[in-house]
Amino acid sequence: MALRTIQSADLSGKTILVRVDFNVPIKEGVVGDDTRIRAALPTLEHLLAQKGSRLVLMSHLGRPKGGADPAFSLAPVAARLAELIGRPVQQASDVIGDAVEKELDGLESGAILMLENVRFYKEETANDPGFAEKLAKLGDVYVNDAFGSAHRAHASTEGIAKFLPSYAGFLLEKEVRFFQPVVTNPDKPFVAVIGGAKVSSKIGVLETLLPNCSALIIGGGMAYTFLKVMGHTVGSSLLEEDYLDTAKSLIDQAKEKGVELLLPLDHIVASEFSENAKPEAVDSLDIPDGKMGMDIGPKTVAKFKEVIGGAKTVLWNGPMGVFEFDNFAGGTLEVAKAIAECQGTSIVGGGDSVAAANKFQLSERMSHVSTGGGASLEFLEGKVLPGIAALEE
Ligand code: ADP
Ligand code: MG
Repeated sequence: MALRTIQSADLSGKTILVRVDFNVPIKEGVVGDDTRIRAALPTLEHLLAQKGSRLVLMSHLGRPKGGADPAFSLAPVAARLAELIGRPVQQASDVIGDAVEKELDGLESGAILMLENVRFYKEETANDPGFAEKLAKLGDVYVNDAFGSAHRAHASTEGIAKFLPSYAGFLLEKEVRFFQPVVTNPDKPFVAVIGGAKVSSKIGVLETLLPNCSALIIGGGMAYTFLKVMGHTVGSSLLEEDYLDTAKSLIDQAKEKGVELLLPLDHIVASEFSENAKPEAVDSLDIPDGKMGMDIGPKTVAKFKEVIGGAKTVLWNGPMGVFEFDNFAGGTLEVAKAIAECQGTSIVGGGDSVAAANKFQLSERMSHVSTGGGASLEFLEGKVLPGIAALEE
């Protein structure tokens, strides 16, 4: 997949419409975690360095119910961006229309105008062509740097590209550069580390990655459905009865393709699903009645670490246990460390896995940590993301 990039585009003198993903947490009018804003800075700075350019930024924020709603205004985001980028950011009064066009008329070169929340118009999520065309009127070219929204075919992520010359921003390009090889032709040995709560939410990922894998590591809540179908007892662990056949078929596919499939060898269990539950080690594949698997055990950690250590590419999606509870975070922490330490390329996707990497302060040591939870999962399912397809050469 080759994307049209901002590096090769002549953008001088242009008014550049940039779709960013500034869907950040806001509390009492102040931005909390500003990771997403920081992630777009390289693109914005590059665009501002083009002689005579002006930027018009578009983003959504939350899920406003309909019409303009001050609770979902991007004003706090514009304020935070201004601090980070070290120049004024003007907050527009609306998304489209006469008022915005006036504000745009007054915008000098080198200046930034932040449009209001694109979801103030229901036409945004409906990908209404008329609305996309009105957005397109606000600029000469379109740049998409919103990887986190690329799996949505909305007016500001997909529809608009039909009306303007369109390019990928650095962030979006980087995400594609890391994820694309994983689903096509990864450097081998390629180890996929898949966990999280449910088999049902990861089937697409497992089926897409399996044919490319050297080893497939399965941990987290979804592992118990696999262990069950292999004839082990799983106590009161998470179990998806409806997916036993799916698990069996994946085990068979791995065998056929010569992919090493690794499942937990031992467990950390508890009597109840709670933060304060007492962790107990079970040194066996089988989990006793009344106990639920909450994390992988030490033997499993050692085995997973050994396999990860030999990888040229590691993709991690899904925690190995209930990492939100400190008593059951150990397995995820150890596996995350092994991924960070591995000599090969390490890629982390999925909202909770990224949260775990951040919690353990390991993100900096990964080759790539995705900024898009849902988008990275859909990419790993082998889907074509509409926001990306619109930027292909
Ligand atoms: P991601 O967002 O990275 O794709 P998922 O959403 O699939 O990950 O899964 C994350 C969730 O899985 C976490 O909230 C974690 O607590 C849960 N989980 C992991 N292991 C277990 C387990 N053994 N039992 C119950 N929940 C688990
Ligand atoms: Mg999740």
